[in-house]
Amino acid sequence: MVLYKPATFIDCPHYDDRPCASGECSDNVDLLVIHNISLPPSQFGTSGIRDLFTGKLNPDAHPFYKTIAGLRVSAHCVIYRTGKIEQFVPFDKRAWHAGLSCFQGRSSCNDFSIGIELEGTDTLPYTDVQYDALTLLSEFIINRYPRISLGRIVGHNDIAPGRKTDPGVAFDWARYRTSLRRVLKQGKP
Ligand SMILES: [Zn+2]
Repeated sequence: MVLYKPATFIDCPHYDDRPCASGECSDNVDLLVIHNISLPPSQFGTSGIRDLFTGKLNPDAHPFYKTIAGLRVSAHCVIYRTGKIEQFVPFDKRAWHAGLSCFQGRSSCNDFSIGIELEGTDTLPYTDVQYDALTLLSEFIINRYPRISLGRIVGHNDIAPGRKTDPGVAFDWARYRTSLRRVLKQGKP
């Protein structure tokens, strides 16, 4: 069970085994997908994301919840506006975050990717502590799964174009890549 120690682990039923094509299934991870989510939409600090991922979203708690309650979805980690991280699915397991998706000709990206959700919207700037937390989490993931090169970190919009827009124009890819490059370099002797 591959976990990120600084995160709080939350038991989640929405995952399964990665497919085992070559016998190295769980190490066959070579893509990192960045998402955003907020529940209700544009509201932060609620239990909505956790409730959705754990299958406990109350459809009567908000009109929007009626449209998504019952969805069986998850991501490996959620980074909240406060920088706090919750992990819902061990990285060696398959989380259900990408949906219909394709990266460089390979479909079903859930099979070989890790999904990180930022609590946010497409247009509202993410917080400084979210970038900090995302950078350190990404460093951990890349060290554990070195086939995830910088070019294999994408947005949900990149693997599901026309269907998904997250993490949106608000996500500062240049800032993220610069700080990630910096910590990766520091980690080397
Ligand atoms: Zn997404």
